[in-house]
Amino acid sequence: MAFQLSAEHEAIRDAVREFGENELKPVAEEHDREHKYPEELRRKAAEYDFVAPNIPIEYDGAGMDKISSTIVTEELWRADPGIGSAVGSAGFGTDMIIEFGDDWMKEKWLPKIANGETASCSMISEPAHGSNVAGIETVAEKDGDEYVLNGNKMWITNGTVADVGVLMAKTSPDEGHKGITAFLVEMDRDGIETDKITNKLGIRASDLAEVVVDDVRVPEENVIGEVDEGFYQLMEFFASGRTSVAAQAVGAAQGALDAAIEYANQREQFDQKISDFQAIQHKIAEMATKVEAARSLTYRAATQVEQENQDVAAQYSSMAKYFASEISVEVADEGIQVHGGSGYVTDYPAERYYRDARITKIYEGTSEIQKNIIADQIL
Ligand SMILES: Cc1cc2nc3c(=O)[nH]c(=O)nc-3n(C[C@H](O)[C@H](O)[C@H](O)COP(=O)(O)OP(=O)(O)OC[C@H]3O[C@@H](n4cnc5c(N)ncnc54)[C@H](O)[C@@H]3O)c2cc1C
Repeated sequence: MAFQLSAEHEAIRDAVREFGENELKPVAEEHDREHKYPEELRRKAAEYDFVAPNIPIEYDGAGMDKISSTIVTEELWRADPGIGSAVGSAGFGTDMIIEFGDDWMKEKWLPKIANGETASCSMISEPAHGSNVAGIETVAEKDGDEYVLNGNKMWITNGTVADVGVLMAKTSPDEGHKGITAFLVEMDRDGIETDKITNKLGIRASDLAEVVVDDVRVPEENVIGEVDEGFYQLMEFFASGRTSVAAQAVGAAQGALDAAIEYANQREQFDQKISDFQAIQHKIAEMATKVEAARSLTYRAATQVEQENQDVAAQYSSMAKYFASEISVEVADEGIQVHGGSGYVTDYPAERYYRDARITKIYEGTSEIQKNIIADQIL
């Protein structure tokens, strides 16, 4: 399949790169060190349409296609994965609202998210159920014209900063994946408690929380889509979500590569730049090749998502997510090696890219789960 970025895609890349260089890079180390959520930067990024760029224009969004939003994610993560994650994930769950939500949900929440006023979250995982989404235990019981939600959601990005979230709960607890429903949940409802997780390995500027849902009442109009159809609705976004994580991984790998090249060109040993040693040149060549291969696969996945070729998109997005996340950690590891001892401390960004890249092998389906999906598709 031939693939070529348009002039518009290249212009978007240039704009995000400039934003990343000027706004993210200078404050990246501080946000990482202090686990600081970049609310002001989220608002600023929204002015340039870099927050939830998938939100349609009629709801104040940029209405970007999947390739454009992939480039936005990649470039934000290239500048800094921590802040890139906070900004790039500010619209978590909006896919579900855009595709299956009622008009009132879109009108009330999408403009606020697109404008950077607030963030949203997607509450799927639980302490005992991550890879096995169908096993979730959070329940929603009908009581008159309301639902009563009870359960425990774990690892929720934006959990303490979001004003709204999409929560998956069992409406027919004995029916496995056939009994799950998506709910729009305003995060200030009585019975919701969030507990920020502050001991993360990486992407420390990004907000992460446990969310306890204790007798939370929501009106039945808060059901997104159809009762008991939530799992199938969610499946429609897996390919898009996995392509986004592949883009994160490519961005982190490129950032690590950029940092390694810069260091190799200034550090001297044995009276010469270390970039003159063939051993270092080969490392850089290998890193660059891996990044480019991952980028190509990611853009191909984005193209399939954009063209709504469901089966092909499922396969390519899993391949892209698996491959890009694995090489991202490898490239960031080699980036540390190029830096020598300086790569092991926080004076340089090399160790941060390594810690930050690691998450891409875990969320939106682990590498092991991606391999299961790929094998299912091709066997
Ligand atoms: C920083 C961060 C942000 C996150 N953000 C969100 C969020 O916003 N919303 C949300 O809902 N969740 C979020 N998650 C949760 C994330 O999606 C899960 O952690 C992930 O899906 C893995 O689930 P788990 O942690 O329960 O691991 P487990 O499912 O317990 O897996 C443990 C190990 O077993 C392997 N394994 C499990 N099942 C299989 C199988 N069938 N075949 C082969 N190997 C298998 C896994 O690959 C892994 O190596 C986030 C997690 C983190 C760390």
